[in-house]
Amino acid sequence: METRVEVADFEDWRELAGEAVELLQAGELVALPTETVYGLAADALNEEAVAKVFEVKGRPSFDPLIVHLGSWRDIRKVAEVPAEIEDSVRELTQEFWPGPLTLVLPKKENVSDAVTAGLPTVAVRVSAHEVMREVAKKLGPIAAPSANLFGKISPTSASAVVAELGGAIPLIIDGGACRDGLESTIIKIEPGEKKPLITVLRPGPVTREDLRKFGTVKKARPSKDQEVEVPGQTPSHYAPRAKVVILAKDQDFEPEAGVKYALLTYRGDSKWEEAHEWVAQEALSPGSGKLAEAGVRLFHLLRKLDDAEPEVILVESLTETGVGVAMMDRLRRAASEER
Ligand code: AMP
Ligand code: MG
Repeated sequence: METRVEVADFEDWRELAGEAVELLQAGELVALPTETVYGLAADALNEEAVAKVFEVKGRPSFDPLIVHLGSWRDIRKVAEVPAEIEDSVRELTQEFWPGPLTLVLPKKENVSDAVTAGLPTVAVRVSAHEVMREVAKKLGPIAAPSANLFGKISPTSASAVVAELGGAIPLIIDGGACRDGLESTIIKIEPGEKKPLITVLRPGPVTREDLRKFGTVKKARPSKDQEVEVPGQTPSHYAPRAKVVILAKDQDFEPEAGVKYALLTYRGDSKWEEAHEWVAQEALSPGSGKLAEAGVRLFHLLRKLDDAEPEVILVESLTETGVGVAMMDRLRRAASEER
């Protein structure tokens, strides 16, 4: 199949969005930009189209998809909002939508098991990218996982989507580099004693600190909760071809003879830059050391380093505050050898 890549310009992005809607209505898949990573979109209410998403990505059927909505008013098209958390849902969506926060809510019957991997719940969000939102407004709910092959690095640019899915889908809309560059934060809300209980099922651009105003924030327990409630969070994910090894800040680097190494550090001023002939080296936030910038560039730089074909990519461990929590989550999965 020939894959067209069309740039969403100021003048014609609505027209392009209209083309995407037509393809989606015909049961095809289209890669769309979002503020997190590029999404592989399908009509969420068309089971055959949803099945294609799993096929094209090589994604196992136990990994549920996130459903994108055109606006918060559309929540009830696919989900129930239980009365006991209604206020929280309103406050959280008012604050963070459109944006990178995904809510897990009881699903409506029209959402098939293919989308939710058989779960009684559905994950929903409204993207801050106008192209994705426009398409969802015109088409209705859109199922859209990241537009990469299963287990690989998420694409944060149209060219990364071409590298992953070129030839497999008819259209990629190029909406520029993704603003956040990391997948959305996924939460579950429960009524609590004094304050609502917010469980972070996947850390992302909306941080624990951001959520604290809205309830008691807790992390999903990796062993128990995650198996049942975040079925897609396989230990190994976001993986480049090279092996990823995380270096603690005070760790010494001892190269193995004959092995090709690449290096990814936070600011580019670590003790390792000059310590070795790296086949490639990059810094997440050169000089200034800003976590948000580092987050935007993480997947892009992992992909770039991988293209230099090292056997091992060494990554400097990041401080786990703010969006650093999400970055270390992705890096640990990239480094995991558990399949
Ligand atoms: P993505 O690959 O970014 O589309 O994100 C999909 C991820 O969202 C899955 O791997 C799950 O971890 C999570 N997810 C989707 N639906 C649900 C759900 N109903 N309950 C809990 N987690 C979900
Ligand atoms: Mg993904």
